[in-house]
Amino acid sequence: MDTGRTPHLTARLQGIGTTIFTEVSALALRSGAVNLGQGFPDFDPPADLADAARRAIADGHNQYAPGPGIPTLRAAVAGHATRHFGLSYDPDHEVTVTTGATEAMFATIQALVDVGDEVVLFEPAYDVYPAAVAMAGGRARGVPLGPDADGVWRFDPEALRRAVGPRTRAIVLNSPHNPCGKVYDRDELEVIADVATAADVVVITDEVYEHLVYGDAVHVPIASLPGMHQRTVRISSAGKTFSVTGWKVGWVCAPAPLTQAIRAAKQWVTFTSGTPFQHAVADALTWGETYTAPLATSFAARAARLSGALADLGFAVHRTDGTYFVTVDVRPLGFADDVDFCARLPLEVGVAAIPVSVFFDDPADGRGYVRFAFCKTDELLDVGIARLQDRLHGMSRSLPPGRT
Ligand code: PMP
Ligand code: GLN
Repeated sequence: MDTGRTPHLTARLQGIGTTIFTEVSALALRSGAVNLGQGFPDFDPPADLADAARRAIADGHNQYAPGPGIPTLRAAVAGHATRHFGLSYDPDHEVTVTTGATEAMFATIQALVDVGDEVVLFEPAYDVYPAAVAMAGGRARGVPLGPDADGVWRFDPEALRRAVGPRTRAIVLNSPHNPCGKVYDRDELEVIADVATAADVVVITDEVYEHLVYGDAVHVPIASLPGMHQRTVRISSAGKTFSVTGWKVGWVCAPAPLTQAIRAAKQWVTFTSGTPFQHAVADALTWGETYTAPLATSFAARAARLSGALADLGFAVHRTDGTYFVTVDVRPLGFADDVDFCARLPLEVGVAAIPVSVFFDDPADGRGYVRFAFCKTDELLDVGIARLQDRLHGMSRSLPPGRT
């Protein structure tokens, strides 16, 4: 949120500021608020997974893993992509293990984006993307999403076509989408695929919520569309699927020539990471639908619990088809500004949430939208909901001086 000049910081990083997740979680801690801001579960991962990590440590898997990741995890990632999505990757030359999806994104952008290149991002954009583009010396070009009459966030295909130009190197696609809870449907993916193919650009996908998809929504990796495998870099991680956001085991799947470039960058970032966790995740990725189907059902119930309560309170609640998150418009309740709302909510109500306008290049495009996380136990959600019910009406509606 802080966009002032930072001493010592390079010109290319000026204005990027502190990530909103750090700011809001610190505020939640200081104020004793229920943290429905940063997306992390307040419950334990599956016991078998935790046991597998402990076993890997006891079995002596404690030294550097090979740079691209341990072979069993690379094979498990490839097997998972085939079993769930019909995608085919060679574990030796097309799968690379990373320190979370975050490093996968950073290394991919370092590898593919030259100084002055442009990268198209759908906005609101997860804040890692513009930061990674800026660190590579590239330029982000935003394509805004906005909620339609049914509360589904959509983009204008013309705006996408306009955003792609001769300097465009890549389009970043995050589906299921953080913060919007949007799962891009096949028609939308076909538009993106057509634009990428016509312009001959790479699509970098962030699919960390691939198994958190609700109701009738279906997650379709864009790599599965005709002709797209060869130009798609597919990123995911274990954090969300297995409720282990602190483990930071991620991966990137891409055709061999793209993988070669990404590995060339990745080796200089972390070289390798988390050997025992890699062993544990390799095991878990083979669990299949018997694990992922109930996982999605349990998260759909959490989504319904929080979305229903927010609607009863009078927020305009957008549809969430996936992820950890639901977005609302706070303006129907008389609040003008999401940033101000989220700065005061922890202090005055005891709940933390994330302002969505900070994920836009032009914050005016997202003004009034707020993201709540529902990746929490029912008990914690209920405490948050009760606080909102008791205290929201008492919150001041007027903006502080200087914000209009
Ligand atoms: N992409 C998206 C869309 C996310 O929401 C997150 C945050 N959990 C990440 C990437 C980061 O993933 P990881 O923790 O595996 O680096
Ligand atoms: N992905 C998490 C979220 O959107 C946050 C991860 C982080 O703190 N960087 O809430």
